[in-house]
Amino acid sequence: MKAVCWQGKKTIKTEDVPEPKILRPRDAIVKITSTAICGSDLHLYNNLFPGMRRGDVMGHEFMGEVVAVGSGVSNLREGDRVVVPCVIACGGCFFCKRGLYSCCDNSNPNQAETEKLFGSPCCAMFGYSHTTGGIAGGQAEMARVPFADMGPIKIPDRSIPDEKVLFLSDILPTAWMGAENCNVQPGDTVAVWGCGPVGLLAIKCLFLQGAERVIAIDRVPERLKLAADAGAETLKFDEVSVADELYEMTAGRGPDACLDAVGMEAHGLGMMAVVDRVKQAVGIENDRPAVLREMIKVARKGGTISLLGVYSGMIDTFPLGIAFTKGLTFKMSQVQLHRYKELLLDLVMEGKIDPSVIISHTLSLDDAARAYDMFNDKTGNCTKVVLKPGLAPTVR
Ligand SMILES: [Zn+2]
Ligand SMILES: [Zn+2]
Repeated sequence: MKAVCWQGKKTIKTEDVPEPKILRPRDAIVKITSTAICGSDLHLYNNLFPGMRRGDVMGHEFMGEVVAVGSGVSNLREGDRVVVPCVIACGGCFFCKRGLYSCCDNSNPNQAETEKLFGSPCCAMFGYSHTTGGIAGGQAEMARVPFADMGPIKIPDRSIPDEKVLFLSDILPTAWMGAENCNVQPGDTVAVWGCGPVGLLAIKCLFLQGAERVIAIDRVPERLKLAADAGAETLKFDEVSVADELYEMTAGRGPDACLDAVGMEAHGLGMMAVVDRVKQAVGIENDRPAVLREMIKVARKGGTISLLGVYSGMIDTFPLGIAFTKGLTFKMSQVQLHRYKELLLDLVMEGKIDPSVIISHTLSLDDAARAYDMFNDKTGNCTKVVLKPGLAPTVR
């Protein structure tokens, strides 16, 4: 079958790989109809996340049709249409039982590796390096889904297009959880850094959760346009002082909550951004925390910082004293996806949220190299790419 394979920094190839097989009783095999490239795939593309090997199949946002189930899966059958959550959870361990699915103790077969890196093992994810289990991803014609009795979300309504439900696999629940972590109270103003796919959906989720104002920060015009369409006020960070504008817009107090939908590859401005880039390049610092520092500086006293963008390790020059003095609350985690499956499927089916509006490109699996390049460089008005195994490649 065809699959999108990682070859090294900024090198992606669509290759022929062996078809997946049922390996364990709780496995299922899904024939993929749609899969998406995520902003967090770009951290792998740029070789900034540990544990990638040549030939690894990419992709953690996918959906399709169940074509085989193991003997331990009784809730799915051949022919079921499913969206597959990016986080793999067993459902039965100490953490899963407490709703902390991304902390699952059983799903990651490479526990020793993550324990060494992070101090405790993390869950397995599809297509996200050997650190998170080395599970082949879903940017392919088929995928093996471990713990398939726990994860896949059945889509009984065949009339709803893939595009509207596909993002239940990651970015919609991620955005919803990030908004929930902002602890929105009536009248609140929330600032969102980053208007990529997750930031854009977070804006919609914040309004659904009762935010009065959302201020969106980015510098890419088509992203800012989508943010404005979603009802946000917008700031272009390379044209204005974000901190000054935010104080000005909030009676000098700063936003009630700040949501980081950027993470470890924040661009930043000025000398500090250069220092971060150099430190990251030579491995003294894993992540570039320009957004995080700015949020701590401008959040109102007693406010909340919600982190959604992926961070991978150590950061430098963290203004902890400011956060302490202002009494800030920090909320963060990999998405606890399984918590939100029913709620968000209902919101999509009721038409309260339409995640498909962020899609700018629908391409074939064979176009993956070009799609990664475009999404990474934010060229071609690219806001979100969906790959369809059934499509013919576009002529270059
Ligand atoms: Zn994702
Ligand atoms: Zn578990």
